[in-house]
Amino acid sequence: MATMRVVQVSRPNGPFEIVERQIPQPGAGSVRIKVHSCGICHSDSLIKEGVFPGIQYPRVPGHEVSGVVDAVGPGVAGFAPGQRVGVGWHGGYCGQCDYCRRGNFFACVTGQVTGLSFDGGYAEYMIAPASAVARMPAELQPVEAAPLMCAGITTFNALRNSGARPGDVVAVLGLGGLGHLGVQYAARMGFHTVGIARGKDKEALARQLGAAVYIDSRAQDPVAELLKLGGAKVILATVTSGEAMSAVQGGLAVNGTLLVIGAAGSMQVSPLLLLTGCRSIKGWYSGTSIDSEDTLAFSARAGVRSMNETFPLERASEAYERMMSGKARFRVVLTIGG
Ligand SMILES: [Zn+2]
Ligand SMILES: [Zn+2]
Repeated sequence: MATMRVVQVSRPNGPFEIVERQIPQPGAGSVRIKVHSCGICHSDSLIKEGVFPGIQYPRVPGHEVSGVVDAVGPGVAGFAPGQRVGVGWHGGYCGQCDYCRRGNFFACVTGQVTGLSFDGGYAEYMIAPASAVARMPAELQPVEAAPLMCAGITTFNALRNSGARPGDVVAVLGLGGLGHLGVQYAARMGFHTVGIARGKDKEALARQLGAAVYIDSRAQDPVAELLKLGGAKVILATVTSGEAMSAVQGGLAVNGTLLVIGAAGSMQVSPLLLLTGCRSIKGWYSGTSIDSEDTLAFSARAGVRSMNETFPLERASEAYERMMSGKARFRVVLTIGG
């Protein structure tokens, strides 16, 4: 029987272990993917640390997967071996629950998450439900595509559903793994793009990524600077500090939205600010496989790319520590094969 290498976690806070397993067969409705690259996302810490309820161990993390369809299970339409694909956080949907019937596939009651409900992409092969699989354009290299499957889709999908129109002021708070993609997408969608980060040293990067305006939140007051521009129609909050989010809400224009995609613990909100200007605070879920396809296609056409540091699969532990250190510029990606 042919075997494969996977990197698994056997218990909460356990180490990453490289083990050999049999290459699994895809069941009904699933495909097998030969993984070429897998991004390491901060959400992988949910599996590593066991803080998400109901995880069954051992578990192979990884929800920023790019690769090629290797085998197709019974009843799968639209995928064939050799096809280049990606898999993201959203681990498929049933099509029959009330949320699915209303078109909210992301909220499907099955709640499947790649690398959490089933084994993910820190592996040479993985099995994914066909409804979780996105087709990948030929122009994207595997390492380029992988981070777009979570960091990319989350920022792209949030911005395109934000209600902002070309020419509107859109600010991106934070210039890390999410933010450096958010600035690129915002600029290429035609928004008047503002980058907000701490320190003068980030300005050159923000401008290189497409920001027309840069606000150094150490030296400047982001609220005052945004109001000079008429206020932001949207502030995309990519940071994980609730304090930093709270600090910029005053920079929203009338009818503006603070769009939260950074997983902060809590934040302070001014009810007066919301009600006097019909402002809102809203979160955004990443998206489903068709949103991933749109993200990949837009990124390929518009030249949006993640800046990545790469590690081979066997150095997954080191790669994870690098991601957790917050020092990576900006995404960490495992290279696996292909
Ligand atoms: Zn993620
Ligand atoms: Zn469903």
